[in-house]
Amino acid sequence: LLDALADQAAVAIERIQLVADVDRARLAAEADRLRSALLSSISHDLKTPLAAIMGAAGALRDYPDEIPPADRIDLLATVNDESERLYRFIANLLDMTRIESGATQPNASLQYLGDIVGTALRRVAKIAGQHRIETDLPADLPMLRLDPVLFEQVLFNLIDNAAKYAPAGSTIRIQAWADDGRLELQVLDEGPGIPPADLERIFDSFYRVDKTDHVRAGTGLGLSICRGFVEAMGGTIAAGNRADRSGSVFTITMPVPPEALNLEEMS
Ligand code: ADP
Repeated sequence: LLDALADQAAVAIERIQLVADVDRARLAAEADRLRSALLSSISHDLKTPLAAIMGAAGALRDYPDEIPPADRIDLLATVNDESERLYRFIANLLDMTRIESGATQPNASLQYLGDIVGTALRRVAKIAGQHRIETDLPADLPMLRLDPVLFEQVLFNLIDNAAKYAPAGSTIRIQAWADDGRLELQVLDEGPGIPPADLERIFDSFYRVDKTDHVRAGTGLGLSICRGFVEAMGGTIAAGNRADRSGSVFTITMPVPPEALNLEEMS
C-alpha cells in the first residue's frame, strides 16, 4: 500500500510540476508580449511628437524672417500641443509604474463625490470644450471613502476619452446613484461605442481598439490606470455600450462605507 501511495504521489508531483512549467512558460510569454508592446508603444508615442517638435522648432530657427507671422503661430502651437502630448504620455507611464510597483497607496478619507466631479470638470473644461457636459448627482448621495486625487484622475481619464472618441457637439453625461450599500457612477457618451469583444481588453495596458488611429493620439494606458486606481480604492470599473443609443458607458462601483451610512441615519 505504501508503495502504491508513493507512486501516486510521484505521479501527482509530476503533474503539478508540468502545470507549473506551463504556467511559467505562459507568464514568460505574457511578460515578453507586454515588454515588446511597451517598447513599440514608447518608441512610437515618444518619436511622433518629438519629430513634430523638432521639425517646427528647426523651421523657426532656420527661417526666422521668411515664415509669415500666421505660420509662425501655427508652428509654435505645434510645439506646444506636441509637448503637452509628450507630457501626458510620460505622466501616464509614471502613474502606471507607480501602481504596478505598489508605490501608489490610496490616501483615503470620507469625500463627497460631487466635490470630486466638480474638480475633475474644471480640469477637463479645456479639453472637452466642444462637448456638452450634463451631470445628474442626487444631493443625498452618501459619502465615499476614497483618495480624491486618484479618483479625480480616474474621472479625468474617462471624460477625456469621451471627449476624444465622441463627436464634437455631443453630450457627455455623468450620473450616480446609491443602492444597497453601493454607489454607482457612470460616464456616458454619444460616440461609436466599443465592440463587445473588446469591452474587457480595453482595460489592458497599451490595448487600443483601432491601432491605426493616430489622429486621436492615445497611449492605451488611460483605462488600465483607471482600473488600477479604482481597484486600489476597493471598487470596480466596467465598460459597456448604451442600450438607448450609440455610445459607451463606463460604470464605477464603490462600496458605501458603514460610517457614511451611519451619518445618513443620524441626519
Ligand atoms: P487611449 O485612449 O490612450 O488609446 P485608453 O486606455 O484610455 O487608451 O483606452 C483604450 C481604448 O479603448 C481606446 O484606444 C479606444 O479604442 C477605447 N475607448 C476608450 N474610451 C472610449 C470611448 N469613450 N468610446 C469609444 N472607445 C473608447
